[in-house]
Amino acid sequence: MLTISPIPAFSDNYIWHLEKNGEHWVVDPGDARPVIEALKSAPLAGILITHHHPDHTGGIAQLVHRYQCPVYGPGSIDEVSHPLKDGDQLSLLGGKLEVLAVPGHTLDHLALLLQLSDAEAPPHLFCGDTLFAGGCGRLFEGTPEQMYGSLRRLSDLPPETQVYCAHEYTAANLRFAEAAEPGNAVLHNRISQVDSLRAQGEPTLPSTIGEELATNPFLRCHIPAVARRAVSHGAGENADEVGVFAALRQWKDNF
Ligand SMILES: [Zn+2]
Repeated sequence: MLTISPIPAFSDNYIWHLEKNGEHWVVDPGDARPVIEALKSAPLAGILITHHHPDHTGGIAQLVHRYQCPVYGPGSIDEVSHPLKDGDQLSLLGGKLEVLAVPGHTLDHLALLLQLSDAEAPPHLFCGDTLFAGGCGRLFEGTPEQMYGSLRRLSDLPPETQVYCAHEYTAANLRFAEAAEPGNAVLHNRISQVDSLRAQGEPTLPSTIGEELATNPFLRCHIPAVARRAVSHGAGENADEVGVFAALRQWKDNF
């Protein structure tokens, strides 16, 4: 059976740890030390990387030195031994890993979708800093068009898809979501659930695509109530969905 668990790193990063039958992989090891501690004496079979930011890549060199394992990710990163691009597929942990290019937060950003051979199992999405629970990544390199296209691509995945983001930002994101769509009752329920998880020190992840579609304002730019709030925060009266998205993102940057 596959288990996926978060290894906390820095103040709010999660390094996702995948294990099946003694085979271990990690996603975005920004720091090697907590990974080595989590593995105990087990070997690391490989590393997956979503994008080039140091809080996602800083531990690679030490882990490769220690475990001699392959590194799969964007070819823009020196330590990547197996460059990935959109549409690539590889066999991993008894399932199939699909690569989706999702530029916006960075231009090299990839999302990795793991589909197990058991057709009943939901897909698992490792989306780095592109889609967050209740939010999305900042636009450091890409345009609003690129980021919105990337988010649309992720939002087209099956609603039961499990979403493993790389940061614990959910509570703060939902505060903004509430400002962007105050009348959303599903969102209010989610805020209560997330606040009680955080009060117990529990992670709020994984999320699901279905939950994000219902509560994440960046996936709800087509909803008139969200668009109206965006217009009062800088979007033009006749803004299209990208225009709404761009205004929301800018509003959130200063929220
Ligand atoms: Zn990043």
